[in-house]
Amino acid sequence: MNKIGIIGGTFNPIHNGHILLANYCKEKLNLNKIIFIPTYTPPHKSDKDLVSEVHRLNMCSIAVQNFEDYLVSDIEIKRKGKSYTYETLTNLKEIYPDDSLYFITGADMFLTLEKWKNPNVIFDKAIIAAVPRNRMDFEVLNSHYINFLKPLGATACIFDEPVLSVSSTFIRENIDNYDLIESLIDRNVYEYITKNNLYRK
Ligand code: NAP
Repeated sequence: MNKIGIIGGTFNPIHNGHILLANYCKEKLNLNKIIFIPTYTPPHKSDKDLVSEVHRLNMCSIAVQNFEDYLVSDIEIKRKGKSYTYETLTNLKEIYPDDSLYFITGADMFLTLEKWKNPNVIFDKAIIAAVPRNRMDFEVLNSHYINFLKPLGATACIFDEPVLSVSSTFIRENIDNYDLIESLIDRNVYEYITKNNLYRK
């Protein structure tokens, strides 16, 4: 039986916070592999500067190319429509029936999980792993788990160390200032963004 981490995201673009989130969970949970799954249409966002799913998929592939246990899946992109996590986990459980799935999330998404479509299916198919954005988050996440998610059948591992303070929004807003974002994004992903003229105003 393998332990597989799943990181769903808009990845607009993927950055080092996402990779550190994966590295951290892989080590703490002893995961065998991690699958990054870029959304087709995110159910919860309508970013006006959302680049195409093909660009977001390509950037994910570039970002993980040197990690042998990290894969990128186009399962949501091929499915099209809104990328509901319960459907993705149902599909993955059919592909990996004997493995344990860990759905890895940051703080913001964790705090909305009970409002997602069919949360009971999500909690049935996967254990949730939540990593905070800052040192203040742990108590908030833990009480959300105890009060809202556990009563719905969720099992969650909540970590108390933030990985890196960075967001895709910050990267997009500073795309012309490489000195500012150099430590936050993979060099090859940045070159892909530049070559394809993404996120320019
Ligand atoms: P995103 O912005 O690309 O981020 C992907 C994940 O990485 C998020 O969980 C995010 O945490 C986390 N993250 C990013 N930077 C981080 C940092 N510096 N430290 C720690 N964590 C960090 O993705 P997203 O647009 O939020 O979407 C997340 C997933 O949730 C997608 O697969 C989406 O389809 C799914 N979703 C599903 C439903 C539904 O099924 N109804 C509804 C909403 C979302 P944060 O949570 O803190 O942003």
